[in-house]
Amino acid sequence: MNFAFGFLVIGIIIPAVLAVGSGVLLGFSVYYDAMYRRNENAVMWAVLSGFFQLAALIYLILHFVEKHKPMRCIQCGEFLVPDSRFCMRCGRQLFVPAPEQLQMYDKRRRLFFWLWIASIALVIVVIIIPIILLAVRYFISYVNIS
Ligand SMILES: [Zn+2]
Repeated sequence: MNFAFGFLVIGIIIPAVLAVGSGVLLGFSVYYDAMYRRNENAVMWAVLSGFFQLAALIYLILHFVEKHKPMRCIQCGEFLVPDSRFCMRCGRQLFVPAPEQLQMYDKRRRLFFWLWIASIALVIVVIIIPIILLAVRYFISYVNIS
Protein backbone atom coordinates (compact mmCIF):
# COMPACT_ATOMS: atom_id res chain seq x y z
CA MET A 1 0.00 0.00 0.00
CA ASN A 2 1.57 3.29 -1.04
CA PHE A 3 1.64 6.38 1.12
CA ALA A 4 -0.91 8.46 -0.80
CA PHE A 5 -3.48 5.66 -0.68
CA GLY A 6 -2.87 5.15 3.03
CA PHE A 7 -3.30 8.84 3.64
CA LEU A 8 -6.54 8.86 1.65
CA VAL A 9 -7.98 5.96 3.67
CA ILE A 10 -6.89 7.23 7.08
CA GLY A 11 -7.32 10.94 6.43
CA ILE A 12 -10.56 11.08 4.47
CA ILE A 13 -12.50 7.84 4.13
CA ILE A 14 -12.40 6.69 7.77
CA PRO A 15 -13.43 10.09 9.21
CA ALA A 16 -16.17 10.43 6.58
CA VAL A 17 -17.56 6.96 7.34
CA LEU A 18 -17.43 7.67 11.08
CA ALA A 19 -19.14 11.05 10.71
CA VAL A 20 -21.95 9.63 8.57
CA GLY A 21 -22.26 6.54 10.79
CA SER A 22 -22.49 8.46 14.05
CA GLY A 23 -25.08 10.79 12.48
CA VAL A 24 -27.22 7.81 11.45
CA LEU A 25 -26.95 6.28 14.94
CA LEU A 26 -27.92 9.57 16.59
CA GLY A 27 -30.81 9.97 14.13
CA PHE A 28 -32.18 6.54 15.10
CA SER A 29 -31.79 7.30 18.81
CA VAL A 30 -33.67 10.60 18.42
CA TYR A 31 -36.36 8.90 16.32
CA TYR A 32 -37.12 6.24 18.93
CA ASP A 33 -36.90 8.77 21.76
CA ALA A 34 -39.41 11.02 19.97
CA MET A 35 -41.73 8.04 19.32
CA TYR A 36 -41.43 7.09 22.99
CA ARG A 37 -42.44 10.62 24.00
CA ARG A 38 -45.27 10.70 21.41
CA ASN A 39 -43.63 13.56 19.55
CA GLU A 40 -45.52 14.03 16.29
CA ASN A 41 -42.40 15.25 14.50
CA ALA A 42 -40.25 12.17 15.20
CA VAL A 43 -39.14 11.71 11.58
CA MET A 44 -38.24 15.38 11.14
CA TRP A 45 -36.12 15.43 14.31
CA ALA A 46 -34.45 12.14 13.37
CA VAL A 47 -33.46 13.40 9.90
CA LEU A 48 -32.29 16.78 11.25
CA SER A 49 -30.20 15.07 13.95
CA GLY A 50 -28.76 12.67 11.40
CA PHE A 51 -27.51 15.51 9.22
CA PHE A 52 -26.64 18.05 11.93
CA GLN A 53 -25.89 16.42 15.26
CA LEU A 54 -26.53 19.78 16.98
CA ALA A 55 -30.23 19.40 16.13
CA ALA A 56 -30.39 16.60 18.72
CA LEU A 57 -29.32 19.11 21.36
CA ILE A 58 -32.08 21.52 20.27
CA TYR A 59 -34.53 18.61 20.37
CA LEU A 60 -33.47 17.78 23.96
CA ILE A 61 -33.70 21.44 25.08
CA LEU A 62 -37.18 21.78 23.55
CA HIS A 63 -38.32 18.64 25.35
CA PHE A 64 -36.86 19.88 28.61
CA VAL A 65 -38.65 23.22 28.23
CA GLU A 66 -41.98 21.65 27.28
CA LYS A 67 -41.85 18.76 29.73
CA HIS A 68 -44.08 20.38 32.31
CA LYS A 69 -46.54 21.86 29.85
CA PRO A 70 -49.73 19.84 29.29
CA MET A 71 -50.01 18.18 25.85
CA ARG A 72 -52.06 20.07 23.27
CA CYS A 73 -53.68 19.08 19.99
CA ILE A 74 -51.42 20.15 17.11
CA GLN A 75 -54.49 20.76 14.94
CA CYS A 76 -56.72 22.94 17.14
CA GLY A 77 -54.58 23.66 20.24
CA GLU A 78 -57.06 22.10 22.68
CA PHE A 79 -55.52 20.66 25.89
CA LEU A 80 -55.48 16.87 25.71
CA VAL A 81 -56.69 14.44 28.34
CA PRO A 82 -53.70 12.14 29.08
CA ASP A 83 -53.88 8.85 27.11
CA SER A 84 -56.97 9.90 25.17
CA ARG A 85 -57.23 8.56 21.65
CA PHE A 86 -59.03 11.53 20.12
CA CYS A 87 -58.97 15.29 20.55
CA MET A 88 -62.12 16.27 22.45
CA ARG A 89 -62.63 19.40 20.36
CA CYS A 90 -61.69 18.59 16.75
CA GLY A 91 -61.72 14.79 16.88
CA ARG A 92 -58.18 14.45 15.54
CA GLN A 93 -56.89 10.92 16.07
CA LEU A 94 -53.93 10.84 18.47
CA PHE A 95 -50.94 8.53 18.38
CA VAL A 96 -51.18 6.25 21.41
CA PRO A 97 -48.58 3.47 21.36
CA ALA A 98 -49.30 0.16 23.07
CA PRO A 99 -47.23 -0.66 26.20
CA GLU A 100 -45.15 -3.26 24.28
CA GLN A 101 -44.50 -0.66 21.60
CA LEU A 102 -43.39 1.89 24.21
CA GLN A 103 -41.05 -0.69 25.71
CA MET A 104 -39.57 -1.36 22.25
CA TYR A 105 -39.05 2.38 21.61
CA ASP A 106 -37.41 2.75 25.02
CA LYS A 107 -35.05 -0.18 24.37
CA ARG A 108 -34.09 1.07 20.92
CA ARG A 109 -33.53 4.70 21.93
CA ARG A 110 -31.08 3.45 24.59
CA LEU A 111 -29.40 0.98 22.23
CA PHE A 112 -28.82 3.62 19.53
CA PHE A 113 -27.74 6.17 22.11
CA TRP A 114 -24.98 3.88 23.39
CA LEU A 115 -23.95 2.95 19.84
CA TRP A 116 -23.71 6.69 19.14
CA ILE A 117 -21.54 7.18 22.25
CA ALA A 118 -19.31 4.33 20.99
CA SER A 119 -19.05 5.98 17.57
CA ILE A 120 -18.04 9.29 19.19
CA ALA A 121 -15.41 7.44 21.23
CA LEU A 122 -14.13 5.94 17.98
CA VAL A 123 -13.97 9.44 16.43
CA ILE A 124 -11.85 10.58 19.38
CA VAL A 125 -9.49 7.60 19.09
CA VAL A 126 -9.18 7.58 15.29
CA ILE A 127 -9.27 11.31 14.50
CA ILE A 128 -8.70 13.57 17.51
CA ILE A 129 -5.90 11.64 19.24
CA PRO A 130 -3.84 11.26 16.02
CA ILE A 131 -4.20 15.02 15.39
CA ILE A 132 -3.00 15.76 18.94
CA LEU A 133 -0.07 13.33 18.54
CA LEU A 134 0.89 14.94 15.22
CA ALA A 135 0.70 18.39 16.81
CA VAL A 136 2.90 17.25 19.72
CA ARG A 137 5.43 15.71 17.30
CA TYR A 138 5.46 18.91 15.26
CA PHE A 139 5.90 20.97 18.41
CA ILE A 140 8.81 18.81 19.63
CA SER A 141 10.62 19.02 16.29
CA TYR A 142 10.02 22.78 16.27
CA VAL A 143 11.50 23.13 19.77
CA ASN A 144 14.51 20.99 18.79
CA ILE A 145 15.29 23.18 15.76
CA SER A 146 15.11 26.51 17.58
ZN1 LIG B 1 -57.92 19.14 18.26
